[in-house]
Amino acid sequence: MSAPATLPTEAPPPERCELAVVGGGIVGLAAARELAARHPARSLCVLERESALGVHQTGHNSGVIHAGVYYVPGSLKAELCVRGARELYGYCERAGIPVERCGKLIVATEPGELARLHELERRGRANGVPGLARVDAAGIEELEPHARGIAALHSPATGIVDFGAVARSYARDVLESGAAISTACGVESIAVVRGGLRLTHARGVTEARNALLCAGAWSDRLAVAAGAEPDPRIVPFRGAYLRLVPGRRELVRSLIYPVPDPALPFLGVHLTRRIDGEVLIGPTAMLAGARDAYSLARLRALDLRETLAWPGTWRLLARMWRAGLTEIHHALSRAALVRAAARFVPDLRPSDVEPAFAGLRAQALARDGTLVDDFVFSRSERALHVRNAPSPGATSALAIARHVADEAERTFALG
Ligand SMILES: Cc1cc2nc3c(=O)[nH]c(=O)nc-3n(C[C@H](O)[C@H](O)[C@H](O)COP(=O)(O)OP(=O)(O)OC[C@H]3O[C@@H](n4cnc5c(N)ncnc54)[C@H](O)[C@@H]3O)c2cc1C
Repeated sequence: MSAPATLPTEAPPPERCELAVVGGGIVGLAAARELAARHPARSLCVLERESALGVHQTGHNSGVIHAGVYYVPGSLKAELCVRGARELYGYCERAGIPVERCGKLIVATEPGELARLHELERRGRANGVPGLARVDAAGIEELEPHARGIAALHSPATGIVDFGAVARSYARDVLESGAAISTACGVESIAVVRGGLRLTHARGVTEARNALLCAGAWSDRLAVAAGAEPDPRIVPFRGAYLRLVPGRRELVRSLIYPVPDPALPFLGVHLTRRIDGEVLIGPTAMLAGARDAYSLARLRALDLRETLAWPGTWRLLARMWRAGLTEIHHALSRAALVRAAARFVPDLRPSDVEPAFAGLRAQALARDGTLVDDFVFSRSERALHVRNAPSPGATSALAIARHVADEAERTFALG
């Protein structure tokens, strides 16, 4: 988890600007950076609700630069993750942000998983992921001496970074381009007015000719406020992590992942070395009682009401109650979470871990109960919305930024 930003981001929000970007997470900041670089003569501001940047998903994740193995060929995730990872490595090297191509193993422990591993390899190759290789049991041990499995897919292009640091660097670029960033500026309502949008926020009103809304776990709420469809709704999935105690970090050299369940958009409990040397185990995936339920006990009546009133929630629970029970077990029992990880690293013991932190996934859920897998972008009058940017959204942010900037140029006639 990264430290809060110490950038000059408390500028008073402008009364008028040409383009307002709402949301100071990695996606909003990358998009603001791209648009400010392409259109230096246009006035641009970023409005962020919290008093610091990147404190939600951007600051609470696994820190993995995904190479693009998992995603359906031809999907936005496949295209934007592969491109985004390549651009991110280049950006970090230029900006002096620590980054490491440590590689990752996706490990099958049972014959029943081999067909799915094969499918992942097919997808990865179709997506143009560099360097993918199949390894056998001996190959697994060579790369990860404490890991066990019957076969694995090795992705040497997968890496690690602190996405909070990356987001702060994007914010620095935005500020250097002359645009303003205003924190503590949560947008409460959006009205279409003559010639633009009136954004009423915690620090007054900003009238913008156009807006780009990148509000993560609150993106559906802002989209509805701007006149867009309520479908899909965001349901928050809490992902808690454990960390290895310092004396046991040698159990994991890089990144060890399971073969994911194709019915779920989450990648399963993994072991992740971080750029600061810590090793995480997790995350869990449990429906949460608030969009910022960093503690298990936090409930917010509005969030809960919106989740429970959404027909998709009940359709999802009816279909996936068994997976839901396993996740609740992982979330409530440290020993169960350790057991899930010990499938790949048998030497792992409950005494090797301590609690770390939790993140909240902003996951779009369709009315029919489908967990929306791909990135989703949509439009309303004078606004563009990033409606679903879960993992690998942080990896993909520079490519998402280009995608939405192209769309903004077409829709807002910025070009
Ligand atoms: C547990 C977990 C593990 C993950 N692991 C990885 C990983 O290893 N690799 C990877 O690539 N991705 C990972 N992800 C996904 C990644 O973190 C997200 O895709 C990415 O951070 C999304 O960025 P964002 O800017 O859309 O959202 P956020 O970072 O959540 O930012 C949204 C911002 O909008 C602001 N906002 C909301 N409402 C308003 C409002 N009304 N007015 C003004 N501002 C508002 C919020 O305060 C917030 O700052 C993970 C996510 C989680 C939760």
